[in-house]
Amino acid sequence: MASAQARTSAHAGSRTATAERSYERPTRPTRRLIPRHRWRRATSRALLRPQAGPRHPTGSLPGVPAYLDHAASTPMRPEAIEAMLPWLTERHANPSGAHRLARDARRALDDAREVMACALGAAPGEIVFTSGGTEADNLAVLGTADRHGGVLVCAATEHHAVLEPVEGRGGRVVRVRADGVIDLDALTEALDDDVTLVSVMLANNEVGTVQPIAAIADLVRDRAPAAVLHTDAVQALSWLDVATLAAPVDLISVSAHKFGGPKGVGALVVRDRATLAARQIGGGQERERRGGTQNVAGIVAMATAAAAAVEQRPATVERIGARRDRLVDGLLAAVPDLIETGRPDRDLPDRDLTDRDLGAVVDRSGRIAGTGHLCIPGIESEALLFLLEEREVYASAGSSCSSGAMEPSHVLAAMGIARQLAFGSLRLSLGWSSTDAEVDLALEVLPPAIERLRRFAEPTQPTTASTTAPISGGV
Ligand code: PLP
Repeated sequence: MASAQARTSAHAGSRTATAERSYERPTRPTRRLIPRHRWRRATSRALLRPQAGPRHPTGSLPGVPAYLDHAASTPMRPEAIEAMLPWLTERHANPSGAHRLARDARRALDDAREVMACALGAAPGEIVFTSGGTEADNLAVLGTADRHGGVLVCAATEHHAVLEPVEGRGGRVVRVRADGVIDLDALTEALDDDVTLVSVMLANNEVGTVQPIAAIADLVRDRAPAAVLHTDAVQALSWLDVATLAAPVDLISVSAHKFGGPKGVGALVVRDRATLAARQIGGGQERERRGGTQNVAGIVAMATAAAAAVEQRPATVERIGARRDRLVDGLLAAVPDLIETGRPDRDLPDRDLTDRDLGAVVDRSGRIAGTGHLCIPGIESEALLFLLEEREVYASAGSSCSSGAMEPSHVLAAMGIARQLAFGSLRLSLGWSSTDAEVDLALEVLPPAIERLRRFAEPTQPTTASTTAPISGGV
């Protein structure tokens, strides 16, 4: 406790010094363990009190028979809703103010910061609250670029919130293997003394691939000593021990609505050894790293959801992982030529996998437990989603609409999945509230829907967007 307190007060006392600190070569990272007593103290604060488990153990979304799109957004946890309500009603003061009510709001932010720090293996002063995952990613990538210049590097399967800033600044995009894991040889080639930031996501939002962050961190320290390492952990907190896995990482992005908090709030861990240019300036909040009045209600709810997600993670992974497996295995058995995406033994990025991989079963150990991903030869997933929706089964596809034409997902393309096959991709993502009944309904509805589409629709290459297509991909 003494060292945690010392660290916390050191942060409080060295705001300017930290902002001015020179860009040092990071020392070899050590595993950051959050002391149990620190976790207990942080999560037991009156304002954040998490409950022992979900209040509705059988419930998913009221009135929604099967919601299988948790990777896009997972329902808010009841304890997070409860925690945020007072901050939307009677407790409305600005946390930057000078009076007692403002100090109350500031204290709530401090408590939330401590919980997020524990959940992410950071010090409280290293947490920067943001408006969500996109802003956290942009701040990490563009904030580093604006402060240090140099070359930016990322994996080809990153979320657009990372990929577009890296490409926009002329950065290097590194290929992945057929299972979605970054090609470490290609990464080695991309690294040199000019590189200032490397960004590789912890878990992929479409197929769920988990990246070997420790090996990536070793390579970065070795080959690009001036670079900081960023990980987009937006899809990870419900499933992985982010505090441990991301210990060697300098910048970590998370988003509340992916683990049971509200939309429009997130956080970026900025280790003291990583310095950034702020992208929002004016109020000096968040130690000058992100100006703007904080979203107190959202932040309190995010911390409450994070505490619940971390405490319940082992049980959630076991319970939901078993449901995901039952769903995907059941579909593979019912529809024999389905392809589970990302076989680890495929290593030729451009190979069309329709022939050899029919009916193959994937080792799912390298994926987060909530995500199942399939390619369905001979259909277009937009049409399938429409049929599923008629039976109130909600899932998502890997394609997106841009400039009036359907484009297959850049993630599937980077994994070497043939364009036509990628148009038939289906993501089934479960979350903390997913039930057996939802899996049963999906197993009942999906096989006949696929058969119906195959019977009545000639597979064609889509050229125009359906009116229900999403306007952008990557959730
Ligand atoms: N990164 C990943 C991996 C995501 O899945 C998402 C959201 O879908 C984001 C970033 C963006 O997060 P937000 O929706 O909070 O802006």
